[in-house]
Amino acid sequence: MLRGIGGAPGIVIGKAFIFRPEELVFDRRQISAEEADNEIFRLHQAISQAHKELSGIYSRTLAEFGRDRSGFFQTQLMILEDPAFDTEIVRRVTEGHNVEASVGETVANFMGIYMSSRDLHMQERANDYRDVGCRLLRILLGQAWSPLPQIREKSIVVARELTTADTVQIDRDKILGFVTESGVRTSTVSILARSLEVPAAVGLGKILDRVRAGDLLVVDGSTGVVIINPDEKTLSEYRKREETYIACKNQLQTTHEMPSQTKDGTAIRLWANIDLPSEAVCALANGAEGIGLMRTEHLFMGREDMPDEIEQYEYYLEVVSIMGNRPVVIRTLDFAGPNSPFFLTGAYEPNPFLGCRGIRLSFNFEQVFKTQLKSILRVSAHGNVKIMVPMISRVEELRRAKELFKAAMEALTAEGVKFNPKMEFGMLVEVPSTALTAELFAPHINFYSIGTNDLVQYTLAVDRRMEKINLVDQALHPAVLRLIRSIIDAGRAVDKSVAMCGEMAGEPMTTLLLLGLGLRQFSAVAGSLPELKKIIRAVTISEAREVAINAMQLSTPEEIKQYLQDELKSRRLYF
Ligand code: PEP
Ligand code: MG
Repeated sequence: MLRGIGGAPGIVIGKAFIFRPEELVFDRRQISAEEADNEIFRLHQAISQAHKELSGIYSRTLAEFGRDRSGFFQTQLMILEDPAFDTEIVRRVTEGHNVEASVGETVANFMGIYMSSRDLHMQERANDYRDVGCRLLRILLGQAWSPLPQIREKSIVVARELTTADTVQIDRDKILGFVTESGVRTSTVSILARSLEVPAAVGLGKILDRVRAGDLLVVDGSTGVVIINPDEKTLSEYRKREETYIACKNQLQTTHEMPSQTKDGTAIRLWANIDLPSEAVCALANGAEGIGLMRTEHLFMGREDMPDEIEQYEYYLEVVSIMGNRPVVIRTLDFAGPNSPFFLTGAYEPNPFLGCRGIRLSFNFEQVFKTQLKSILRVSAHGNVKIMVPMISRVEELRRAKELFKAAMEALTAEGVKFNPKMEFGMLVEVPSTALTAELFAPHINFYSIGTNDLVQYTLAVDRRMEKINLVDQALHPAVLRLIRSIIDAGRAVDKSVAMCGEMAGEPMTTLLLLGLGLRQFSAVAGSLPELKKIIRAVTISEAREVAINAMQLSTPEEIKQYLQDELKSRRLYF
């Protein structure tokens, strides 16, 4: 069994299809001065052919997937149009190298520059150069265009990594799921899998060394577990889970219309987390009554200029238009060190996750923060928009954020721009200091939302980015559970709502426990909502309370997990 990161929920069993993207392969040859003109002519013909192909793919993906996922084709078109790129290749040709070698070396050079960037998203730009280079070389070599080997039967696609350029060209009807060596929950492949509603396990390290084409794989996209050629017992256990999962998905139509409430009639809010505006469609399809966490980093990633107030406003507006009057909680930026776009990069820090991250970074780039606050306020005129700030660790930070929020309102008023002056302001509780003193923040906010992903890492001193860390298992540590309980209790004492939007909220195994601890609002990846609703509808609050009381008496995450699984099994709710 290999454990990576859950990229998109669901369980699937199927054959492996190994995808290896085109390699940058080229011949090296010295050419004479007379040949150079012809080589340059060939280059320009290849560039114009590549431009034609890419423009076609760009318009198709734009129509099919929208702006979010077609943007990098535009980036690739820009590379082709970039005079510096052309000049660099021509320079190598005039120095006596054949055009294929000149293209290959130029591309490798640009890839090297981007790969050495501290910004992870700039590193992804290297893929765009690789794709452009492969396309040009293929054209120069006169090879037919077959971007991907055809998948003959429905399969699980296994790859080192998958860029959107790769994935949008695979026949989607044949994709059962994705497994990749690299990647995190917000990688292209995870986002795409969630919108295709197929499971994905990412960040699995060297899995390509172990899987061969046609191997039978079990993929659990909720936990990131992949099993290669499982034994009979494991296979039948997972087949059952796969069936239950599919049955549950098929029930979607029916659960969709049913209210989200416990057996004894307590209403439970089920909201969705999204990383891209277009994911709101999937949220609605899965019965989300609102967006409990809209992360905003994606709009800022991998670009050289900061999105201005209007661009941000339009981006958020896309979600609000999809969600209508349903609540949409927009979180302000939560970048840290090497993950930040370079216009948000400050002085070098040895450990930015314990330094200038989230709200602290926003304070260091106050103008960026103010612009974001203004654009979120602008969009509040069109729907039920709420704002939420991340990584609050002390009351002073919240006060300062509120001051800047007020200043943003004043600026908009002065400009005569409409917004909702009563827009709700909430905070993520994801640092233990805040969890322990949650009630002290109450005068400044309308709601709390528990971010268990970070709460786990800062409480248990485990790095959430480590591939071996399963955030949900870790969240069952008694220390984390006690913090969660105290936040929920504090919320009740000060009469403020408490939601949970960390991954724990989307893990069905924990639903009874969380209900029993008093949680009434869950925000999770959209695909998990039907399953959560099924559990919620099957129990009473007093049953859930009993489960919570028992779980809180156990001493290790393993014991608690076993107990929760047994409780679900006894109710025939276990997947
Ligand atoms: C969390 O920390 O639980 C959370 C929801 O935020 P993120 O995963 O974006 O840090
Ligand atoms: Mg967080």
